[in-house]
Amino acid sequence: MPGSFFSYLSCSNTHPSCPRILILLGPPGSGKGTQAKKLEQSLHLPHISTGDLLRDHIRRNTELGKLAQSYMDKGNLLPDHLILDMLFERVSQKDCNKGYILDGFPRTIPQAETFQKGLEPQTSPIVVNLDLPDEKILERLTKRVVCENCGASYHLLYSPPKEKDICDKCSGVLIQRPDDSEEVIRKRLKVYSDQTAPLISFYSKQNLLHTIDCSPPPEQIFREICSVIDQTTKFC
Ligand SMILES: [Zn+2]
Repeated sequence: MPGSFFSYLSCSNTHPSCPRILILLGPPGSGKGTQAKKLEQSLHLPHISTGDLLRDHIRRNTELGKLAQSYMDKGNLLPDHLILDMLFERVSQKDCNKGYILDGFPRTIPQAETFQKGLEPQTSPIVVNLDLPDEKILERLTKRVVCENCGASYHLLYSPPKEKDICDKCSGVLIQRPDDSEEVIRKRLKVYSDQTAPLISFYSKQNLLHTIDCSPPPEQIFREICSVIDQTTKFC
């Protein structure tokens, strides 16, 4: 049964009174989204993605959503205070009082600093840095192909089609998305590392950073993250 082994795994939950604020850092292709979902199920903590929050505010046409939209219409980046307002509003909701998992936040040092100031004095985030060498990321992301006809996706190394360039499901032609080209991915990786490098040193100086190598299979990475969480919250 695919996935049955995975479903046995879970983080031990012996310190439910200790708020767990988890920050996940990881480049595209590190499997951050997969881990965030697993952690959400296992720890029963909400998974908060700033991208989703933003889309939700825009959809509901809130004051913050309207303001964000006005920046985006002009092609400008959103200011830190706007992101922080959205985030603080979200984490002050009741379902976050035992903790939460942050995905896509913080992106800048001012965001990280203001966030830290907003936390209870004795609360520190657990920062998990999902690390993967660029060459491995390229191998994962540039070998993805999709069916032009039905949208089914394949990976030329991990889940190849039975016949080269042909969809197993509908015999459509398999193509690479422009987003998955090596050039585009190298650019995204550059943006990511420029943005994240300062955060890595920010959290590392405070001894809050836990770096995990993301080359092994997802279930092993998940166990390692759980063990980091268990050790970090053992004495609180
Ligand atoms: Zn197809």
